[in-house]
Amino acid sequence: MTKPDPVIVIGAGPVGLCLALALAQQDVSVVLIESMSDDNFLDQVPRAGSNHPTTLEFFDRIGLYARIEPRGLIAPKFQYWDRQDSALIAEFDHALLKDDTRFPYVLQCERIKIIEEALKMAKAHPRIEVRMSTEFVSFEQNGGGVAAQVKNAAGEAETIRGSYLVSCEGARSIVRRMLDVEFEGFTYPERTINIEVAYDFRKHGYTERNYISDPDEYSNLFHWKGPPDRWRIHFPTAIEDDENELKRPEALQARLKRFLGIDRDFEICGCNLYTVHQRVAKKFRQGRVLLAGDAAHVNSPIGGMGLNSGVHDAFNLADKLVRIVSSNADDAELDRYERQRRHVAVKHTQTQTIRNKRLLEERDPAVRQRNHDELRRQAEDPALARTFLLRTALFESLREAEQIA
Ligand SMILES: Cc1cc2nc3c(=O)[nH]c(=O)nc-3n(C[C@H](O)[C@H](O)[C@H](O)COP(=O)(O)OP(=O)(O)OC[C@H]3O[C@@H](n4cnc5c(N)ncnc54)[C@H](O)[C@@H]3O)c2cc1C
Repeated sequence: MTKPDPVIVIGAGPVGLCLALALAQQDVSVVLIESMSDDNFLDQVPRAGSNHPTTLEFFDRIGLYARIEPRGLIAPKFQYWDRQDSALIAEFDHALLKDDTRFPYVLQCERIKIIEEALKMAKAHPRIEVRMSTEFVSFEQNGGGVAAQVKNAAGEAETIRGSYLVSCEGARSIVRRMLDVEFEGFTYPERTINIEVAYDFRKHGYTERNYISDPDEYSNLFHWKGPPDRWRIHFPTAIEDDENELKRPEALQARLKRFLGIDRDFEICGCNLYTVHQRVAKKFRQGRVLLAGDAAHVNSPIGGMGLNSGVHDAFNLADKLVRIVSSNADDAELDRYERQRRHVAVKHTQTQTIRNKRLLEERDPAVRQRNHDELRRQAEDPALARTFLLRTALFESLREAEQIA
């Protein structure tokens, strides 16, 4: 019997790496194509890093959890704050999920550490051919397979053949554009500034993950192990604000002083500005070509759902591709991947992240009050709090997807 062609995975981000490892560990060969080189792979701007219990279970399945746990911070709790009167609104504790998961906490571990560890695993796996410094350019497909055109590490045009091709290239997916699949949704008319600061916010009562509501300047505050140990705080900025002005050291200091209401200088480790999109691809599959992760859906980081839901795509897809490639299962299973994961992207990730942002920036005092009372009510009742956590930790979305035929 001839060996099936490998699955081609484009992009060694968290989604592409998890997909490659999950396939390879079930004996499916993979060619993993990444445009960055070994020299600059770890120079990426800070992004995701709040890994929910469901995602930790998946990481554990491929042996990745044990590698990242020592590099991260275990964060069982998260809090909602009202900046108007510097008051804690509500605290949720994942300990309430102790009977639902072996990981009743969020692991604060930066995306860069996850991909560093996962890339080492991928390079060591005999079923994965990792092609760094290789830029995916275009593809063709027919009933028998796919052909990816790349510019390889030597700068030459090369064709790589595979059985299926999965775009894990991130939000700017060339594959999605070549398929002419609409990226439905919208982009917020503002940008977010992320400031990294070496300062212990716990002195002010904050925990490792905090959502801070304010009609004028809502924010999110997260603790990271580093090194160096530091916190990231995100604030919205007006679209017309000048980037250089926003990033001026004095402007960053002033923003932090205003936030904490104290007059001292902070040790700022870095900052970056990003635009937030809420979009879902109209299709996740066309023939032998699939979209996963940010290539298929993007959302506001409030709630930490982008990387998490992308990794869930990867494992859903891996199980189906294994059955198709190794056991000749009907590839109509891939339509189920689209039905399940598109449903999650639209009904869960988009809905929750849009709602999270609205909650934090609400201007109407009566609605703010109602929202805060509701959060308090849920946090104080263990049964309601557990239901809340099952949703925020993405158990609800996984269980609902399982019901989709
Ligand atoms: C500030 C910020 C904070 C965030 N915080 C969180 C959080 O706490 N929790 C969370 O779940 N999500 C968070 N997210 C979202 C998260 O970062 C993304 O959802 C996640 O990184 C998507 O993973 P991915 O593998 O799909 O794509 P990416 O991480 O974008 O990786 C894509 C990979 O493909 C490669 N590539 C691209 N084009 C090509 C090409 N043509 N050829 C070859 N390779 C290519 C890229 O170099 C890259 O390595 C955050 C995002 C931002 C901006």
